[in-house]
Amino acid sequence: MPTEPTRAPGAGQSADAILAELRGLREADAPTRGGRTFAYVYDAGLDGLDELAAAAYTAFATVNGLDPTVFPSVARLENDVVGAVAALLGAPGAQGTFTSGGTESILLAVKTARDHARAERGVRAPELVLPSTAHAAFHKAAHYLGLETVVVPVDPLTFRADAAAMAAAITDDTALVVASAPSYAHGVIDPVAAIAAAAAARGVLCHVDACIGGWLLPHLRRAGRAIEPFGLSVPGVTSVSVDLHKYGYADKGASVVLYRDAGLRRHQYFAHAGWPGYPVVNPTVQGTKPGGLLAQAWAVLRYVGDDGYAALAARVAEASDRLLAGLGTIGGLRVLGDPVPGLVAVTAVGGTGADGGGEPDLSLLLHLADEMRERGWYLQPQLSFDGLPPNLHLTLTPATADRVDDLLADLRAALGSARALPPVSVDPGLAELAAGLDPDTLGPDEVAAVLAFAGLGGDGGLPARTAPVLALLDALPRALKERLLTEFIGSVFRI
Ligand SMILES: *Cc1c(COP(=O)(O)O)cnc(C)c1O
Repeated sequence: MPTEPTRAPGAGQSADAILAELRGLREADAPTRGGRTFAYVYDAGLDGLDELAAAAYTAFATVNGLDPTVFPSVARLENDVVGAVAALLGAPGAQGTFTSGGTESILLAVKTARDHARAERGVRAPELVLPSTAHAAFHKAAHYLGLETVVVPVDPLTFRADAAAMAAAITDDTALVVASAPSYAHGVIDPVAAIAAAAAARGVLCHVDACIGGWLLPHLRRAGRAIEPFGLSVPGVTSVSVDLHKYGYADKGASVVLYRDAGLRRHQYFAHAGWPGYPVVNPTVQGTKPGGLLAQAWAVLRYVGDDGYAALAARVAEASDRLLAGLGTIGGLRVLGDPVPGLVAVTAVGGTGADGGGEPDLSLLLHLADEMRERGWYLQPQLSFDGLPPNLHLTLTPATADRVDDLLADLRAALGSARALPPVSVDPGLAELAAGLDPDTLGPDEVAAVLAFAGLGGDGGLPARTAPVLALLDALPRALKERLLTEFIGSVFRI
């Protein structure tokens, strides 16, 4: 049912009333500080950091990053921030760009590769070769930019990309080959050197998605952990993406994409002189750009400092060790692969032996996520895909380090409660009906019926317990899943 739009208020309201309303809206949200939300948020737990980021944003809130000739401060800040990333992960001559996030960094890296392949190699129908664990942002980029994706299955035990299979997937039309350091889903580092070498041997570009690991891994190395090189120092790697709004602990809207040299980065830029307005040259997707996001990221990097980041990385690593050891003692939970410190994907298995020994149990896993949510924790459900088991994803940050022991205790208790619940099952009739639907020709009424069946009808909110919905989603064919997700989010943003 379409909702009537409400006009902005006729008479302006007081600042106090407005801020009170905004703060009230936050009450239903997952907490972004305090270490109980294990995805989406990155809490350094440092006194004064949030206040500094907000003040730095405010100082630049009215600045337009569109034109560094009018606002030279923007060039100074961006050169500093990109320079800091280049110093960690670059090679001589590396150049980059500050972007709004990992997705934009990846979008730009894919555009650069497409245009490079077109200009330098005459490629007309560009392809993107990526492991099945590559972030969805690459599929989005391929979708936006008109590339074909060539998805290469990963090793089903290690969850790492299969370098030989990736090499075999490269063709004369390949514009870009992708590796992750590490992957978001399982937190494992792909064999970057072998993949990059295979790409280079064919004259193809190679992007390392270090969105989540790019700022953490070098500092883990400084803190004494063994981490193989994965940046532009690795022969054949031609671009890297690094999110500062993850383990850089900047506020959201901060990432860097870095290229081997200026000749490559040029393909990212868009210039236009064919209109009567001002001469346009945009490095990124946006035109008008917030100066504040750049300023807050710059401020956060300075406030924490290199030694501070090494200390925070050590804290994440220590917490990660404790979490992995603890998970190993809970029968029925199994960690997937050998993740880098900071990320964990854990599945629930049938049986109660040391690691259950049994098969991944989707119903138990989803009940566990709901039980944990009732106990005040957010762990991120990830569904099964191409033979890879469903799991719960946890991102550890310094703030979660103090919570690990409580988390483990609650996981133990929640698993007991989850086992006592009747398994969620997908109505075979619905699954069958759904499997027979053609997602492209579904009318709104049919979609609404399936959503209602899944408990997603009406008010656009998720039901308190998400297990039945996610179990249904898990069972549906991919195209239908995507259609339902689209309809669902359309019902959330209902105007
Ligand atoms: C977070 C992430 C992305 C996407 O970044 P956003 O900032 O969410 O747009 C891409 N790749 C990896 C590995 C990530 O962790």
